[in-house]
Amino acid sequence: MAAKIAGNLEGCNVSIIVQQLQGAYERGQLKNALYQYWAQQVPKIFFTSAEVAISTQRTPDAVQSEEKLSRDVLFEPLEWFLCGGNPAAVFQQLQSLNNPPQLCGKVFKVGEPTYSCRDCCADPTCVFCIECFNKSTHKTHRYRMSTSGGGGYCDCGDVEAWKQDPWCDIHKQGLGQQSQNPIEKLPPDIAARAWEVLKIALQYAVDMLLWEQMGGLPQDLEPSVPQNTYVTMLFNDEIHTYEQVINALTKAINCESKEAVEFATVVDREGRSSVRYGNRKSCDEARTVIQKSTSSVRSKPLKVEVMHTSVCAHQAFAQKVLNWLGQVVNHSDGLRHILCTTALQQPPTGDPCVVERLMLADTALWKTARVQCHQIMMGSLLMDQESKKQFSVLYTRNYPQVQKDFMADDHDHGVSIISLSVQIFTVPTLARYLIMEHDLLAIVIRTFLDQCASCRHGRYLLDREKLQKNFRRLQFPLLDLKYVLSMVPDQWNDQLKRKFLNGFKIMVELLTSMQGMDSVTRQVGQHIEMEPEWESAFNLQIKLAPAVAMMAGWCATDKMVLIDAFRIVVKALLEIRGTADTVKMCKRRVCDQEAIVVDYTVSREPVSIHLPICRLLAGLYLQLGKHGLTFNSPELYGPLQPPSAMDLLEQPLRTLVMIAQVHAEMWKRNGYSLFHQVYYYHNVRCRAEMQDKDIIMLQVACAQMDPNQFLIALLNKFELMNWIEDVTEKGGSATDDLLRFTNSLVEEFLTFLIIITGERYVPGIGQVSSEDMVRREVIHQLCISPMAHSELSKALPENHKHETGMEAVIADVSTFKKPGVTGMGRYELKPEFYKDYNPFFYHYTRADQSKSEEAQLKRKKQEGESTACPPPELPALSKEFSSLVNVLECDVFVHTIRMVLRRVNSSRSRSWTEAMVHRALHLVGMALNEEKRLYQTSPYIRFNFVKKATEGGSNSLYSALHDLLGKPRIQNHADLLTWVIDRFDEVKDLKDQKQGASDAQKAKKVSSKSKTDAERKKKAEAARKRREKILAQMSDMQKSFIRDNLELFEATGTELSSSPSMEVEGSPMVVPSQYPVAVGPDRSPATHVTLTTSTCILCQEDQEVAAGNKCVVLAAYVQRSTALSKSRGKVLEDPDKYDPLLVSPDLYHGVHTSTCGHVMHADCWQRFYEAIVAREQRRALRFRHILSYEVDRGEFLCPLCETLSNTVIPILPPSSTIQPDSVSADISLSFSDWLDGLKKTVEASQRAMMKEEEDKMESSDDMPVLSPCPLPSITKNMAEMAAQGFQQLFEYMTETGAQAPYSDSVKEMMKLFSRATYTNMLHDPPLPTKFGLGLDPNDDDDRVPITAWGTCAYTIRTLEWLLRDQGKPLFGSLSSRQADCITALVRVVTVSGSLSDPQTISKSALRLLSALLPQEPMKNIPCILDLDMFFTLVFLHVTISSLYCDENTAAGGTIRGVALNDKHLMHLVTAAHLVQILLAANFTSADTPMDTEETAEGSAWVKLFMAVRKEAGVQTPVVPSGWQLQTYVRESVLPFLRCSALFFHCHTGVQSPAQLQESGVSEFEPLCQYLALPADLSSLLLQNSGADVGHVVPHTIHSKWCHYPGIKESLASGPASLVKYPVEVNRLVPLPHDYSDVINRGSVFTCPRSDGDDSRAPTMCLVCGQMLCSQSYCCQTDLEGEPVGACTAHIYTCGAGVGIFLRVRECQILLLTGKTKGCFYPSPYLDDYGEHDQGLRRGNPLYLCQERYRKLQKLWLSHSIPEEVVHFMEANASFATIEWQHL
Ligand SMILES: [Zn+2]
Ligand SMILES: [Zn+2]
Ligand SMILES: [Zn+2]
Ligand SMILES: [Zn+2]
Ligand SMILES: [Zn+2]
Ligand SMILES: [Zn+2]
Ligand SMILES: [Zn+2]
Repeated sequence: MAAKIAGNLEGCNVSIIVQQLQGAYERGQLKNALYQYWAQQVPKIFFTSAEVAISTQRTPDAVQSEEKLSRDVLFEPLEWFLCGGNPAAVFQQLQSLNNPPQLCGKVFKVGEPTYSCRDCCADPTCVFCIECFNKSTHKTHRYRMSTSGGGGYCDCGDVEAWKQDPWCDIHKQGLGQQSQNPIEKLPPDIAARAWEVLKIALQYAVDMLLWEQMGGLPQDLEPSVPQNTYVTMLFNDEIHTYEQVINALTKAINCESKEAVEFATVVDREGRSSVRYGNRKSCDEARTVIQKSTSSVRSKPLKVEVMHTSVCAHQAFAQKVLNWLGQVVNHSDGLRHILCTTALQQPPTGDPCVVERLMLADTALWKTARVQCHQIMMGSLLMDQESKKQFSVLYTRNYPQVQKDFMADDHDHGVSIISLSVQIFTVPTLARYLIMEHDLLAIVIRTFLDQCASCRHGRYLLDREKLQKNFRRLQFPLLDLKYVLSMVPDQWNDQLKRKFLNGFKIMVELLTSMQGMDSVTRQVGQHIEMEPEWESAFNLQIKLAPAVAMMAGWCATDKMVLIDAFRIVVKALLEIRGTADTVKMCKRRVCDQEAIVVDYTVSREPVSIHLPICRLLAGLYLQLGKHGLTFNSPELYGPLQPPSAMDLLEQPLRTLVMIAQVHAEMWKRNGYSLFHQVYYYHNVRCRAEMQDKDIIMLQVACAQMDPNQFLIALLNKFELMNWIEDVTEKGGSATDDLLRFTNSLVEEFLTFLIIITGERYVPGIGQVSSEDMVRREVIHQLCISPMAHSELSKALPENHKHETGMEAVIADVSTFKKPGVTGMGRYELKPEFYKDYNPFFYHYTRADQSKSEEAQLKRKKQEGESTACPPPELPALSKEFSSLVNVLECDVFVHTIRMVLRRVNSSRSRSWTEAMVHRALHLVGMALNEEKRLYQTSPYIRFNFVKKATEGGSNSLYSALHDLLGKPRIQNHADLLTWVIDRFDEVKDLKDQKQGASDAQKAKKVSSKSKTDAERKKKAEAARKRREKILAQMSDMQKSFIRDNLELFEATGTELSSSPSMEVEGSPMVVPSQYPVAVGPDRSPATHVTLTTSTCILCQEDQEVAAGNKCVVLAAYVQRSTALSKSRGKVLEDPDKYDPLLVSPDLYHGVHTSTCGHVMHADCWQRFYEAIVAREQRRALRFRHILSYEVDRGEFLCPLCETLSNTVIPILPPSSTIQPDSVSADISLSFSDWLDGLKKTVEASQRAMMKEEEDKMESSDDMPVLSPCPLPSITKNMAEMAAQGFQQLFEYMTETGAQAPYSDSVKEMMKLFSRATYTNMLHDPPLPTKFGLGLDPNDDDDRVPITAWGTCAYTIRTLEWLLRDQGKPLFGSLSSRQADCITALVRVVTVSGSLSDPQTISKSALRLLSALLPQEPMKNIPCILDLDMFFTLVFLHVTISSLYCDENTAAGGTIRGVALNDKHLMHLVTAAHLVQILLAANFTSADTPMDTEETAEGSAWVKLFMAVRKEAGVQTPVVPSGWQLQTYVRESVLPFLRCSALFFHCHTGVQSPAQLQESGVSEFEPLCQYLALPADLSSLLLQNSGADVGHVVPHTIHSKWCHYPGIKESLASGPASLVKYPVEVNRLVPLPHDYSDVINRGSVFTCPRSDGDDSRAPTMCLVCGQMLCSQSYCCQTDLEGEPVGACTAHIYTCGAGVGIFLRVRECQILLLTGKTKGCFYPSPYLDDYGEHDQGLRRGNPLYLCQERYRKLQKLWLSHSIPEEVVHFMEANASFATIEWQHL
């Protein structure tokens, strides 16, 4: 046995301890020995941590050492003893003895993905873990994905959870292995020790956790040396907020708020935390203060206890013991079984067993202790079939008490023992066993009833207050009921029947207590004073309804159960009805028919919307037919008197009439509460168990009654007796109100008849299946409009498995239209189903009804059909209900319809409405359809509508219909009338035919009908053709108008007269004859000049852009950016030392500029901006208004388009208007002479500088400064010709304009813009920029203008990437915003050099040149590998003019040779870039040249490649072929050339070559030509055999480049840190295709700050891929002295203050900008229906949509996130209230 000495504690040599334990065990005193050992060690180990917890916050170190000590000292010896050998080996051996697992049982962590198979699950709580799911067949079924709330486990292998394939491939292996008692497999000695050890450990852990005396320990654990230290322990509750806790803590223990936050975080996470350590007195004080400061009138104080440290220590150890037990039993089935047996064993004292004690003490424990107890229960008891059963019996027995404790508790459901219900009650066999043997059903329902009702005189009375206040906690028994009932038994036995009915009876008691709840009486005269509370009754209804429906389902499966249940409900109903004395009856007569009806006036007496007993009876009634029973079967009632049809009718009818009256606006004074109730009564969530059941009940009653009597009862209840007797009409004295009410009620009454006789899509009523029912729902939803999958499922009712049944029918009735880049996929109804449309469909709301009618009317008109929507053909009724249709032909019905029609015909009548006519016609149509159907299907007809309707000659219904023809009043329904009359004649013919009449007449009729149809179609076709012709004419006219007024159209296109600038170029108007060249003295004339005239959006005046004119500006937004960074995460270390001139090619830091393109006068804008600032200052005094932009950071919204802006760019005239091209034409200076002159200049300056440096050694710390030397000192060393050329080139043009032509306003605006770029680049957050007057403190900084040049280069680089990323051509595809932006930027930048102090500019030029033409190595001048060449080109272009200025040179001068300089510069910089590319190359394989011959260029490249690399001393393991190298170089240099072309295009206005305006063509050669470069770029570096082309950079310079310090280091650091060429476009991180992979990644992610805890809101940065723990106190950090969340902190290191994230749990995109702005965005993951799923509410499988992700990529790369966020925040007020900085 290996002895192991544990760290710093003496006497814990494992082997000695194990020997001691062994000895004690043999003596039968193991418990004593262990307790003694623990008494001695535990306080030592965990005491330190208690102390540490207070002083330094449990640092990871402290936690680790505690962990290690408890492992080494406490658990290690125990394991050695238990195993009798090395635990690792023994446990492994035990593991091999296990039966292969048939159950997965993996316990889910919060946020882990779970999968449920919609096809195979027994109920929706059955789930797979991701491993099992991926290895199961259900992957190919319809599945649902979700994230676990924590606490459940994987049901793989549970045969009761899945209808088929319960095993995944892994757990299938456990099949067929007959399991023997697992204990028998254990080695006997281990088993014997395990019984002891596990029992002692479990007992200890539970005793300690439940220990209540905080001042001391049980005797056998009392340490030998008593300590006198205490802690103040603070407990979590769900009442106090974080802020309240933090506040109390800072008061009580006098700590920093940061420390208090950490305490509060621990309390929240673990349920308790010690917050003070010391003597009893000080701990008591702290407790008092906390309790005082957290108690208020409304809430109890926080729970705080003062505990002895040793108690604290033992409780900490007890928690560890529980974990340890969990781990131990995980190794072995046998050990698990031993632990379970121990836990369930009742002690001989008769006290409850351990498990029961834990159950009953659940709410007394703190959060983590509870969770650990639950986990060990799940890991042991619930994994072992026999123990699970015993556990569930205990659970059931203690159910009432546990629920009661939960009610009194304040912790979440998830951390309560009652959350284990789902693990037990969803197992059907277990549930059934518990019902039968332990009366589970009754216990659960009774528990609920006892919680929320009191019993008086044998009747329960609901406690409104409890329901209202505590429903959230009350509802769980109802949920359990759903679990218990979810599987209908396939076999009944007597005991099950008895117990079920026992439960059913209690359920009926509960429902009885709800019957008639919240009844209302119509308010007349005055409006109600207080809105009564109504929600609790509906909450109850919603939670109860599924259980009630399921119980009815159970009843349906057994005749005897059904009969008994039916009898229980009937009995309850009769009791509710009351006796004959309390029900008043009266007699009513309508057209010779008489009926006895209940005298109860709905508009005067109380009515309730809650009738659960009636509805339960209706539900049971529909099941009778299955068992051959009918309403009148005597066995249904036994000793009871059967209820009359009137008994069934009365209650639901009252409710329905009240609702009709509410629709008729008779109950307006009863306020919103009634309005809401009516809404929910009909709403999809409630209607199945409310409205629909009431209708069924009425249909049941109707089928039992004489139809005339039924109608009289209805008319009476609708209070329409006067109307039917014509009293109102005759009296003529009806008030307007009464008339309106009556008319509406008649409409409602007729609608009601349509529903009663027409709603047959309920199995049992009509001869339909439940699929038919769903199909009809779907058809009617799609008749409103095409719908997305989610919209449709929201409109359909769900069953208890959350299924709508929609998938089964959707493909039959509709076609799916896929979504585009935005929006959702939609289902469209197939045309053949439009005939099933019924405008009076009873699930339509009024809005649905009118929307659907409109849609149908529009469709029919378009297709030239008749606009009638006739009643659809209906399915046959089932036998029990077949008499329903008799309503449609009874005398009272015919009379009623005739009455309606007669009033329409009477011109004086006011008592008719169009809606009435519509319904009447519809009803007549229904009657005719019915008669027609009967003629076609049954030989013997008793349905005589046609006969009754034609009786009475001119008074008949038939002639009343004919009288309506052509009446303008009913114009809207004329088509329907025609249809009805046609159908009438048709049925009449059928009838005659049946009676043997000839069918000649019929043929004629039919043909006349089809003729009218044909005519209508023809007319519609003609109308369509006419419309098309007119449209075509108009479009022709438009085109010719545009042709004639082309200029006009262009001028009004956008604000800028010449925009859209780049799109229209190349139009046939300007075609340069020669190939365009943009660089050098031979450049083409400018033809493409943008931004010349604009209209100020503020004063609407036109303004021509010219040097001397008023300054105009573009609203612009500058932002620092890392989007182009090739060194993600590299941040600006020291802004004060940052050198913006020599830009590193990894572009890790830059400033991007964008504009919305809107133009203003500078002074107009300044006034506008000052007004905003003033307004904000005024506003700030009153209240802090949350704005989407921050005025103190210079932000404002463009006054026209509200785009976020923070500065302006002045618009300058094009350079061609200032400097004519001709002036430089006569200068001749060769490239080599030019180069030579510059080289000499650098040399001379360096010499001067070094001399100066030697002179003053002391100030060596200063940056050496190169100073310009006078031009003559250079030229004097040159050949005469060259000297002359050089002189001319740099000669200042005094004659054309020594003074800059720009106005002060322009200069001011340029300065303003430079400042904005400067502060954004170097200050984070940017300093407030002062506008207008005064000097800025930064103006002295030489770097201010440079940052403005930088943003120009950076923005061009960005645009080049964007175009490349989208595969668009370089020219012609920028938006006008983008084109205007870079044009304005380039113009500002190219003149800004000449506007600043020439001496400073000159110094910058010198520094750039000394990097490009290095002579002596210098500090602060990097090697060429560390230089971005495009930035260098732009900067040199700007600065080189000032190179030879002197004190006398005034600012604003220009030199003669700008154009020639450009050309030479272009050559030099390109050459340097090429060397850069050759050095950075990293070929891993060489292509062997195929049959293609090596070109001269190719060999030149190989020569150069070898030469420069040798020079630089780089290894070249692989020599590429010439062709390979040539391709590489051309590809690599391309981005630089593209950027340069954009730059010079904007600068010179030279037309772009046509080749560069189309995509997919080779760009290389056109670009070279446009930039005046040779097509063979190698000739820039190598003198080829050909003639001297005059632009070769001599070898001496290559050599200097390659030998410059830093080159070797850069190259040696390897390809990882070198920028690779061609520089690739940065993209957002690749995302997995399947969203569950994302969820999984999120679930394994733990909070980086708190050791191993799950993160509540894992959030992925899409820029760098890092996962963050967002929206949580644990990961807050300080930013500028304010706490911010992980995302906000991250965007400042990763994205320069801008970020784009994926929130994993919510499945949504988060955009952030700065600290206060953000918005949520739909994620790019879509389900099969083309919909995203924010919050994963629907749970359909989600897959990445590449197009949508590309859209996000574009949003990010184009730097549009801030703009987008602000637009969202402006449009969505709720975003403004979110504290984005905490995410
Ligand atoms: Zn699993
Ligand atoms: Zn499995
Ligand atoms: Zn399946
Ligand atoms: Zn203006
Ligand atoms: Zn704008
Ligand atoms: Zn965290
Ligand atoms: Zn990132």
